[in-house]
Amino acid sequence: MALDRPNDLSAFWMPFTANRQFKKAPRMLVAAKDMHYTSADGRQVLDGTAGLWCCNAGHCRPKITEAIQRQAGLLDYAPAFQMGHPLAFELASSLRDMAPDGFDHVFFTNSGSESVDTALKIALAYHQARGQGNRTRLVGREKGYHGVNFGGISVGGITNNKRLFPSLPGVSHLPATHLKENAFSRGQPEHGMHLADELERQAAIYGGETIAACIVEPVSGSAGVILPPKGYLERLRAICDKHGILLIFDEVITGFGRMGAAFATDRFGVTPDLITCAKGLTSGVIPMGAVLATGKIHDAFMEGPEHIIEFFHGYTYSATPIACAAGLATLEVYREEGLFERAHELEGYWEDAVHSLKDCPNVIDVRNMGLIGAIELEPIPGEPVKRGFSAFLKAFEKNIMIRTTGDTIAMSPPLIIEKAHIDQLAETLREVLHEID
Ligand code: PMP
Repeated sequence: MALDRPNDLSAFWMPFTANRQFKKAPRMLVAAKDMHYTSADGRQVLDGTAGLWCCNAGHCRPKITEAIQRQAGLLDYAPAFQMGHPLAFELASSLRDMAPDGFDHVFFTNSGSESVDTALKIALAYHQARGQGNRTRLVGREKGYHGVNFGGISVGGITNNKRLFPSLPGVSHLPATHLKENAFSRGQPEHGMHLADELERQAAIYGGETIAACIVEPVSGSAGVILPPKGYLERLRAICDKHGILLIFDEVITGFGRMGAAFATDRFGVTPDLITCAKGLTSGVIPMGAVLATGKIHDAFMEGPEHIIEFFHGYTYSATPIACAAGLATLEVYREEGLFERAHELEGYWEDAVHSLKDCPNVIDVRNMGLIGAIELEPIPGEPVKRGFSAFLKAFEKNIMIRTTGDTIAMSPPLIIEKAHIDQLAETLREVLHEID
């Protein structure tokens, strides 16, 4: 397609971007293939972030592209209202097969934010359906990221996302599990299991019978990669069980192989009641999300009179055919290429590479698990431009894509990454960290 105005940047109000800074020095991507982006000035940029934690199968994979093209010419849209189409059922069944045991039902959305708000609504409606309408409280966690819709920012705990906006009433937060004594841990840190006990304290204050759900990211990504201390998720599960609180794992980042298993639920061996996912479901190619529910949850909605729509919720594009085609093709690529197993096999190499940066200037912590890595830099007091952002700009100049949150650099490459790419990421980042010192 010929572009008439490729240099007119005035109309697009960019998301999550410092618009004024960007428009002075735009960073444009024009193509992608496998592990690389092509920049507008023709450079091959190694993707160290799988787009935005989503392109787990790598870029422009023919199987996915062809499935989308085929579907666009066959059934472009079907109403998500009293109608179905075969791909949606097929994808739900495939997801069920891939999901942890017991997650037998799938509710489709179009994003992680929608998955989170959908899961919160399912939790509230579930208790209503069982005659426990007094359970309306929600518990999230400080530094948690659950998207940008009102449910998500209410249970979320990243200050900048909450500032300026009202939150849902009756929401409280657990402390973040980011502890100094865990610095430079490899994998799950030792200290901090006790932080889960705050849920018990809140159950004592508000009454456990008033809490509907507790939502956490098993590994939080957007706040700068914060891992669950050993025993922490188990303890949360036990407290939820004791008080009849539903446990929701937000697996928008950790789903689809990122942790070397299909879901973090499998990796940690702790089973929630609801799982939210998105991103890797279509390898980031078409917007799509889902909530995975156990039979216990789903069945509570199926027991009323049949003429009532059991859970009155959905989106125009829930399970839209082209997204389903992308999802089915993506799950096939994961299976055929054994990408989750591959992530597991590469974890040790990845861990060594990420931790090899620990002696670089200003590094105060290195964290990793699965194919996620984070390098935390010492903040510069009073400095508006964070070291992390300087590192991101310098890295892009040097042909690697990283992500930063404040002063933490996060990496989460496509699962097709080769050892040579891991070396390139680490070596380039080493140069970057020395140069921005
Ligand atoms: N939950 C988590 C854990 C996420 O990491 C994200 C996105 N990074 C979201 C929800 C929101 O997803 P989306 O941007 O697709 O709405």
